[in-house]
Amino acid sequence: MNIAFFGLGNMGGPMAANLVKAGHTVKGFDLSPASVEAFRKVGGTVADSPALAVEGVDVVISMLPNGQIVRDLYTGKDNLFGRLLPQTLVIDSSTIDLETARDMAVQAQRQGLQFIDAPVSGGTAGAVAGTLTFMVGGDSEAFARAQPVLDIMGANTFHAGAAGNGQLVKMCNNMLLAVHMAGTAEALALGAANGLDPKVLSEIMLQSSGSNWSLQKYNPAPDVMPNVPSSNDYQGGFMVNLMLKDLGLALDIAKGSDQQTPMGERARTLFQEQSEQGLGEKDFSCIYQRFVK
Ligand code: NAD
Repeated sequence: MNIAFFGLGNMGGPMAANLVKAGHTVKGFDLSPASVEAFRKVGGTVADSPALAVEGVDVVISMLPNGQIVRDLYTGKDNLFGRLLPQTLVIDSSTIDLETARDMAVQAQRQGLQFIDAPVSGGTAGAVAGTLTFMVGGDSEAFARAQPVLDIMGANTFHAGAAGNGQLVKMCNNMLLAVHMAGTAEALALGAANGLDPKVLSEIMLQSSGSNWSLQKYNPAPDVMPNVPSSNDYQGGFMVNLMLKDLGLALDIAKGSDQQTPMGERARTLFQEQSEQGLGEKDFSCIYQRFVK
């Protein structure tokens, strides 16, 4: 298959590399020379412009920072939707606002293209290992066509319904992640402040009703688990600033639907304060440090 890939950063770089490894011809485009060079090293072809990247391709994939950049690429200054052959499949895996995701689907359909929103969970480790989870919104035919491509980059692919629903699932999931990470950190620090060993407390809570993903896979207290950011000075992993972006998108959806999200709002305030203290580039589990005396 001929694939164009936009956004070869921490996530997009290894995702595109896995497509190359699977034998596809992948033309990548990125504004960062370092990302482009890394992609060339894994056998990718680098295009000098977005227009050159999409010449003769069957599938376009984007993994970009935000909705405005996605909009500029497809319908704004680069206007790729106006250049693609009819029936080209466009997969946007960036985490972006619901409005842009839905609008891109409408604009794509007007041009005779197939478009799905397919944001991911699984982080950079999942991108490298090809074990991401894709949450897809869009019509069933486009989803079926995308499945074999997504299977190369991920281990799980879910169709959540109409256009935008992939982004909706992503926002609900990440808002809950922020809440249970903050709650887990708070509980562990409370125990530690009163003489409990966080390791012992974690072991017991894992078998009790407080068990959750943060305890199972991503313990925020240092040295309870190996190979997680908390045991490596909160480096790598999922940055506080990216969590803040996702919380902002989730709370915008809440506002737009007149829905109460008090826990999500509280979590945003906590992570915002972490960012303001200069911890924006640390892993989001560093919220534990806030509670430690
Ligand atoms: P990143 O900053 O590492 O990569 C983004 C890349 O896009 C950069 O290389 C940048 O140069 C490039 N770019 C920016 N504007 C461009 C343009 N107009 N054309 C081409 N390239 C352009 O970010 P990332 O961590 O790879 O995240 C990408 C997306 O994935 C974001 O939407 C993020 O929210 C989402 N995401 C990230 C993670 C994670 O753990 N990092 C997990 C899930 C989802």
